[in-house]
Amino acid sequence: MRTPLIVGNWKMNKTAAEASSFVHELNDRLSTISKGVELVIAPPFTALESARVALSPSSTIQLGAQNMFWEDQGAYTGEISAPMLKELGCRYVILGHSERRTIFSEQNDSIHKKIRAALKHGLRPILCIGESLEQRERGTTDTVLTQQLHAGLAGLTAESVTSVTIAYEPVWAIGTGKSATVDQAVAAHRTIRQFLTATWSSTVAETIRILYGGSVTPQNIELLLSSDQVDGALIGGACLQVDSFATIVRLTSATRSTGV
Ligand code: PEP
Repeated sequence: MRTPLIVGNWKMNKTAAEASSFVHELNDRLSTISKGVELVIAPPFTALESARVALSPSSTIQLGAQNMFWEDQGAYTGEISAPMLKELGCRYVILGHSERRTIFSEQNDSIHKKIRAALKHGLRPILCIGESLEQRERGTTDTVLTQQLHAGLAGLTAESVTSVTIAYEPVWAIGTGKSATVDQAVAAHRTIRQFLTATWSSTVAETIRILYGGSVTPQNIELLLSSDQVDGALIGGACLQVDSFATIVRLTSATRSTGV
């Protein structure tokens, strides 16, 4: 049984001081309601240290970053490396988010290098993939997902690939208030598992967690988790308020522990 994973992607929101008070409040709220759920918050780089300090030593919340570069150090102005993130206490790193792909022109080959670098340094990559509205309407969703998976994960051993989490995030659902339906999410997750089975094995496919992301809210999380194909969620907008994030976590814990 895969442990559900809830990841909050803060994007470019909250200063270091705001992160500190947010995390203190979140810690208090989540301590009793997150049973059986793995939790990650991904603040901006500048707030990672204050978030780390604000997490109590007994907190179950883990830290993630929103991006990184593939080299360890050197003349790469403006970039951040895996060892830098590790030193700040990060365990996860989000890679290939659609905003990175579209606004910053990130290509599959750079994402692949980042995944390899993250794994080399013991960071767990969360690889984001997803189709645009145009690709969905053209009927090419499965092809796009398979291409992104192939380009991102090609050549990894079965052992390394099981440290990767996949986030299925249809581009048209991100920040739009229009979530995928459960059927759409399940169909995409099945395509992803078929790719993992064909490339590695059914054991790998059954081990890797696949999250859904795109306009997840306290109102739709239970429905999305009603299929055991969905192993959790990557959350943008709704992770920025303690109330909505904590409610999503509570509902995830309740849904999965009662086997709904
Ligand atoms: C995201 O940015 O990964 C995301 C899913 O955003 P939102 O929840 O706001 O759609």
